[in-house]
Formats: sequence, structure tokens, C-alpha cells
Amino acid sequence: MNIFNAVPSTYAVPKKADPWQRVGDWLFRHRTHIQVLQWIVVGFYLALLIVPLLLPLPDRTATIWNNTIRFAQFMFWGIWWPFVILGTALVGRMWCGLLCPEGSLSEFASRHGRGGAIPKWLQWSGWPTAAFALTTLYGQMTSVYQYPKPAALILGGSTVAAIAVGYAYGRNKRVWCRYLCPVGGVFALLSKLAPLHFRVEPVLWRLSQERGEKPGAIDCAPLVAIKTMRGASDCHMCGRCSGFRGAITLARRSPSHEIIHVAGVTPKPAETVLILAGLMGLAVGAFHWSASPWFIAANQRLAEFLIEAGWVAPLEITLPWWILTNYPERNDVLTLADGGLLVGYVLGTAAAAAVLLSAALALAVRCLGQWDVRRFHHLAQTLIPLAGAGLFLGLSAMTVTQLRSDGVVIPYVAELRAFLLCLAAAWSAYLGWRVGGLYCRSAVARIGAMLCLSSAWAIAVSGWVLFFWLW
Ligand code: SF4
Repeated sequence: MNIFNAVPSTYAVPKKADPWQRVGDWLFRHRTHIQVLQWIVVGFYLALLIVPLLLPLPDRTATIWNNTIRFAQFMFWGIWWPFVILGTALVGRMWCGLLCPEGSLSEFASRHGRGGAIPKWLQWSGWPTAAFALTTLYGQMTSVYQYPKPAALILGGSTVAAIAVGYAYGRNKRVWCRYLCPVGGVFALLSKLAPLHFRVEPVLWRLSQERGEKPGAIDCAPLVAIKTMRGASDCHMCGRCSGFRGAITLARRSPSHEIIHVAGVTPKPAETVLILAGLMGLAVGAFHWSASPWFIAANQRLAEFLIEAGWVAPLEITLPWWILTNYPERNDVLTLADGGLLVGYVLGTAAAAAVLLSAALALAVRCLGQWDVRRFHHLAQTLIPLAGAGLFLGLSAMTVTQLRSDGVVIPYVAELRAFLLCLAAAWSAYLGWRVGGLYCRSAVARIGAMLCLSSAWAIAVSGWVLFFWLW
């Protein structure tokens, strides 16, 4: 039996245009206004990236209110990242389709570029996961959150690559966003939780075709196969297809619908790696290491070992700022030993999380019946609420810290963090129960699977409990 044939449809045809449908149609009609907005964002983004490079590093009395570098840091890491992550879970990838400066520049370059065919190697599904891992690790090695030069190198490098790819491939398309963007994979996961999506009604589409209507082609920049689109992962919510053949509308849906009924149709190993090793492992290690007593203890042991062995070079060698943090004037320098340990800590966290979480998922799969790879990947998708909440909490910790250092204290932060973690764990539990029910009717087997999954939730939550409450 194909369990996905029995999917309850969200595709009920609305009797009259609801407010969301009107929003979708508004986006369709106001593309020029959206383009103006996009160029304003591009200008703001480039200013935040370039102006700090021309200024001296701030002293300890500088605040986000009186220093451009501190302001740019706060905008990038305290506002932009955490709230784009949160926004994607709330309204889908509207950031990508309506505001992202990199996407706008890539599409602009594509409009005036070579228009080449997209090569096969570029379409590898693992690029977003690999790019996320590399940029996260490199960002930690160069202290991207603290200094303008690595921020310009990583963000600016990504923007230059996006423009180059746009210029080389596709016509009026966002090939970079579709296949290569380092955060595209994360956005694709989080958008599955969004209670809004562009809904495609196949029956209305077919009727329009049968009536002989010829509305022309849709200019879908991220190259979505719109006619068969069932989820929000690939859609950038730009609204350019709203109303097409009377079959596409911006509409509400249950925020659990896509993970339960769509995410299991096609197994996506790259997404599983991104969830388990990336968001719940590598990203956690990247947030943890500078606060971790384990890292400090390991660093001391390593230093003692190297001194006893008479091999002190790794404790003395430093590298240029674009390889390892090197700001002696700020007393902030990572030696080769520090850098090696940092990389080891982050990658070790990713490996440990991947092994432990995979084991928990594999046991849950077996509780539900025979070993089944598709079920394994589907159960991994139920962890997206916890993975996304962890990423938001880690990023928003910078918002809280930056504001607090400038005298702005956000009340009830600990309570809000605990609430968000509990909510995400409960949501993952609900998804695990519902997805388990697709594969097995036995309540005992489903409870067994839930017990296995609960160890995955505990691993995810404990990482943040250590970071926020125990260290
Ligand atoms: S399917 Fe394509 S054209 Fe339609 S809203 Fe999504 S990104 Fe835009």
C-alpha cells in the first residue's frame, strides 16, 4: 500500500478569495514595487558589508548605537540571521523570494548573462549541506561574528559566487539559490513548518488546460516544478505564479501537514544529513565551543601534552586572519593548536550527534516494522522543529548578548528559551507519533518508536540546556 495515496488533501477549493489569496495576488501584481524594495535591500546590505571595512576596530566603549561596526554586526548576526530563520518557519521562504540581496543580484546577473545550461555536477543535492557545513566551520575559525573582514569575506564571497553563477547559468533564474546557497538547505527544511504556502490545485490546472487557455509561462526564478509542487521547500514565495490558470493561490495549511504527508514521499538523504549532523550537530558545536568547559579542559591538556613532548610550535604558530582568528591588538589570536582543537570540537560534535541521533531513529524504524530507508529519512524530518528551534536559539543568543552589553536587557529570556524548547520538543513528538502511524497501526509499536525518538529529543534539548543554563 502506498501510504501517501491516502493523504488528506489541503487542496480544498476556496469558495471566495480569502485574505491570503489576495496577498498572493498582490505580490503578483506589484512585481515592480518588489524589485525596488529588493534594490534598497541590496544597497543596505552592501553598505553593511563594505563600510565597516573602512573603519578602525571599535574600542570597548563602542555600542551598536554609536559605532558603525557594532551596528553592522548587530544587524547581520543579531537581527538578520535569527529573524530570517524564524520568518522562514512562519511564512515560508518569503525572504528568499522578496528580499534576499544575494538572490536579487544573482537573478539580475542571470538576466544579463550567458544563459548557459545548468551542468549536472551543479545539481548535486548535497551542495547546500556541504556549503552550510563549510561556511559554518570557516566562520568559527575566522570569528565571523566579531570582525568585519571575515564577515565581508564569507558573505561577500558568497554574493560574488551567486552573481558569477547567475551570470553563467540560466536566463532570469536563480540557479545559485536553487542548488548552491549555503543556507538554502536550511531554509528548505524550515519552510516545511510554515503555515502558508502557494497551493497548486491539479484539478483546476487540468480544467484550464481542457478549456484551451494559454496563459504563457511562469517566470519562476528558483526553477520549481510548479505543476507538481506539493510542498513549500523549493518555493521562494515570490507570488509570480499566483492565480496561474486559476489553480495557484497563497493559502493557509496545517504547519505539520508537509512533514507528515509530503516529506516522506521521496527520501532525501542530504536533508537527513543536514538535520542530524548539520543543524543538530555542527551548528551546536559551533555555538558551544567558546563557552564549553570541555573545550577549555581539552585545550589545556593539549598544551600540556605538546609542551611535555617538546613540540611547542603548534602553540606558537599563528595564521593570517582569513584562515584563523588573528587580532593581536585585541588580544584575540588562535594558535594552530587552538584552531585544530576548534575544528576537532565542532566536527566531533557533528559526528557524535549524527551517530547518536541516527541510532535513535534506526531503533524507532525497527520498532515500526522491517528496516526501511524511506521511513528512516521520514522520521528524521520529524526532528525539524527541534533543529530549527535550536538554530534560532543559538543565533538569538547573540542578539541578547549584544543588546545586554549595550544596556538593553530583554526580560524573561530564560523562560522564553525554555518555552520554545518545550514547544519544539512537543511538536517533534507529535510529528513522530503521526508519522509512526503512517507506517504501523500497532499502538505498542508506535509507543516503542516514540521511546526511541525521545532519546533524540533529549539529545537535542540537553545541548541547549548545557549552553544556556549549566555552563
Ligand atoms: S512556485 Fe516559483 S513562481 Fe510560484 S511563488 Fe514559488 S518561487 Fe514564485
